[in-house]
Amino acid sequence: MAGASLKKLRKTYGNVIAVEGVDLEISDGELIVLLGPSGCGKSTTLRMVAGLESISSGQLLIDDRDVTKLEPKDRDIAMVFQNYALYPHKTIRANMAFGLKMRGMEAGEASRCVNEAAEMLDITHLLDRKPGQLSGGQMQRVALGRALVRDPAIFLLDEPLSNLDAKLRARMREEIALLQRRIGKAMLYVTHDQTEAMTLADRIVIMRDGQVQQIGSPLEVYDRP
Ligand code: ADP
Ligand code: ADP
Repeated sequence: MAGASLKKLRKTYGNVIAVEGVDLEISDGELIVLLGPSGCGKSTTLRMVAGLESISSGQLLIDDRDVTKLEPKDRDIAMVFQNYALYPHKTIRANMAFGLKMRGMEAGEASRCVNEAAEMLDITHLLDRKPGQLSGGQMQRVALGRALVRDPAIFLLDEPLSNLDAKLRARMREEIALLQRRIGKAMLYVTHDQTEAMTLADRIVIMRDGQVQQIGSPLEVYDRP
């Protein structure tokens, strides 16, 4: 199926079981939020999907392809980090184009992709600046833009709004929701913020002690007696 399929994903660090048998299907167009207290295994799960952590056991399919053992660059994913992870010495345009050029896209074509994503995120006026000249909210837009240009099968977002103040966080939440509806791709979104989960998620996955405790729509998860 289009999207991603996590099958009994497990991760151990020595004696510590960080993630224990997570099963999850993420369809195209669906935004799934992994929610739970610090240390419950959200981030490790996301990083295994991204390929930033090896998988101790289990299987991962992205768009029906087994990518369990593939490097991040060979997976059809794009990740947005809490700390933006922009190259400080490159312009915003170069930051956004970098991944495309690494994949062998010709410069003119890469530039067209960057312009299109920049327009969608309203950051065209920032393209010639460097990250140090941007506010936190602007940097997070750029980080989203850099993910968007890659047109991945699945977007992975790790606490993307945690570094923003409350007002900006609320605004970016709305924008991510709009963007998601517009592009209709699969998104896996990690947060410990219940409001974020309620606003954004099609389905919420509640994790505890490395396991999935509950899965359901925001209403199903929060309206139970
Ligand atoms: P969350 O994202 O929900 O806060 P994590 O996925 O970061 O949780 O962590 C899950 C568990 O795995 C925690 O007990 C954490 O201490 C442990 N863990 C995470 N990364 C490592 C690591 N590199 N080495 C050892 N233990 C780790
Ligand atoms: P590729 O297309 O080869 O994956 P990317 O530019 O997207 O190249 O980046 C490769 C990896 O490095 C990805 O995980 C990406 O999110 C991460 N990354 C990119 N820029 C930075 C940065 N400035 N600091 C840390 N990590 C980064």
